[in-house]
Amino acid sequence: MKPDEQDKYSRQILFDGIGAAGQERLLAASAVLVGCGALGTASANLLVRAGLGRLRIIDRDFVEPSNLQRQTLFDEADAREALPKAIAAERHLRAINSGVQVEGITGDLTPKNAAALLSGFHLILDGTDNFETRLLLNDAAISLGMPWIYAAVVGSYGVTMTILPGQTACLACLLESGEDSGGRGAALGGDATCDTIGVLQAAVGAIASIQSAEAMKLLAGKPEALNRRLVSCDVWSGKFQSIGVERNPNCRACARRDLIYLNGDAQPHITLCGRDSVQIHERGRKLDLADLGRRLNGASRDVRYNEFLLRFRVPPYELTVFADGRAIIKGTKDPAVARSLYARYVGA
Ligand SMILES: [Zn+2]
Repeated sequence: MKPDEQDKYSRQILFDGIGAAGQERLLAASAVLVGCGALGTASANLLVRAGLGRLRIIDRDFVEPSNLQRQTLFDEADAREALPKAIAAERHLRAINSGVQVEGITGDLTPKNAAALLSGFHLILDGTDNFETRLLLNDAAISLGMPWIYAAVVGSYGVTMTILPGQTACLACLLESGEDSGGRGAALGGDATCDTIGVLQAAVGAIASIQSAEAMKLLAGKPEALNRRLVSCDVWSGKFQSIGVERNPNCRACARRDLIYLNGDAQPHITLCGRDSVQIHERGRKLDLADLGRRLNGASRDVRYNEFLLRFRVPPYELTVFADGRAIIKGTKDPAVARSLYARYVGA
């Protein structure tokens, strides 16, 4: 460890659980964060300050004013510029700790790219907001033999669980076993999402802190300190729980290795992404955003673009198109409407 690192991390090195040896390991460790919203920004901030060696951030979305209440890495300028979250997070994290290699990737995690984007890291962190992507993460982690830390928050309530493939229960053990063992229902309060019942930053902070502490134990080489239980907390009612989750000996994912989310074609080309939006994935299609911007400007569509994305309005809808051909259409939950807008303004 260099002298400036000894000074920078001195309070963490003094902590018995980490020590100088743990800090050395942390500085040499890497993690990949999938989803950089409320949980992702909070955990990334904690781990980059703690002196993680390398962090990759994968996110498909861009910063909006309604994110700033809880997505603590972003500011008003990011929202004004509609920067992709992965890019804005990378910039802020580099300013916070230039000693950490931070790499932001704007895109969607899919069965096709999961192995390439996730492998080579010591740990996967869940910052996603939907179970389809989490089950893909779970399949990918089992396939690659990588630990990952599940986390979810809605309203004032959140859960987190560290998953070590082959050692602990996996997300499919939790969600797909016959009886409801407090999985999907407990995690999200039924079908509630942050877009329907809201979310408190305090709940996000509590869960992100537990997730980050687990990450530090793993990356500092202290697996014996890991909490191998499903931890939940409600910052409004003050109820905290920790539940043992048994491995399902017949689990579809970690026992039978039937990795349907990774190997199947489970990822549709059109997905609802909450908050009254539809995402269209058009893989392998590169768009010339400047050219598209010129075409749309003629029709005066309130076009704004930066090097990463282009946004324009077709009242009551708003379309955000990324350079990889992906688009998020806001103002509808109807895939047919989204597809027709995409075809009309971006191209079939
Ligand atoms: Zn399992």
